[in-house]
Amino acid sequence: MPKIIIANWKMKLSVEESLRLASKLNVGLVKSHRQVIVCPDFVSLPLIAASGFSDNFSLGAQDCAIKNNGALTGEVSSSTLKEVGATYVILGHSERRQLQKEDDVTINEKVLAALEAGLKVILCVGESAKEKAAKETKKVILKQLKGALKNVSLKKSPKGAEVLIAYEPIWAIGSGEAMAAEGAAEIAAYIIKEGEKLLSKRPQVLYGGSVDVKNAALFLKQKSISGLLVGGLSLEAEGFLSIC
Ligand code: PEP
Repeated sequence: MPKIIIANWKMKLSVEESLRLASKLNVGLVKSHRQVIVCPDFVSLPLIAASGFSDNFSLGAQDCAIKNNGALTGEVSSSTLKEVGATYVILGHSERRQLQKEDDVTINEKVLAALEAGLKVILCVGESAKEKAAKETKKVILKQLKGALKNVSLKKSPKGAEVLIAYEPIWAIGSGEAMAAEGAAEIAAYIIKEGEKLLSKRPQVLYGGSVDVKNAALFLKQKSISGLLVGGLSLEAEGFLSIC
């Protein structure tokens, strides 16, 4: 199975910059043997989809609403995201947990809405520096998994439903301080074990947090790590393509 590389562009690029970067990836990914998923902002996503991006990558959104229809001013539903070209959606990213105060109940509603609409889910979990210091990493992750995946069974979901799990230690995101690959592999194996119980299917687990051109290969070498979720490195074509 090819390893998966996810680009999370966050809110870092203008529409013009997003289209330019997508077009460079279109060319650069032709020879890639990875599965690449690019997650632009809501506005750029349909424009990239319409600009004829190649089969070499899929598009993902960075969030979705808790329902697929309703009086939710300012929100964007999974069904609309699918309609305009998204295949995946990132949910539970630590920036949304922290800044938008999203809790596991909200994330669970979003996971259910996304799967119902036919989007594949990229669920982010991970501990803070304080929780790491208190040796609570596994406890925190288990709570996040149980909360976000409540009533989610891939056996009962529509055909093709998928939940990828990104292990992203919060202290490693954007800090330039990636986790040691062996440590990340151990946590990934734990997530596979617990995720399988909840999903009735063995999930693929990715690592995210200060991945760079030097350390990417160390993570990709690990058996329990199926790929990478990349923030900073994904904003620049040359570096990103070098890991794809
Ligand atoms: C992220 O935003 O999920 C992330 C992993 O960012 P970075 O690669 O910049 O640490």
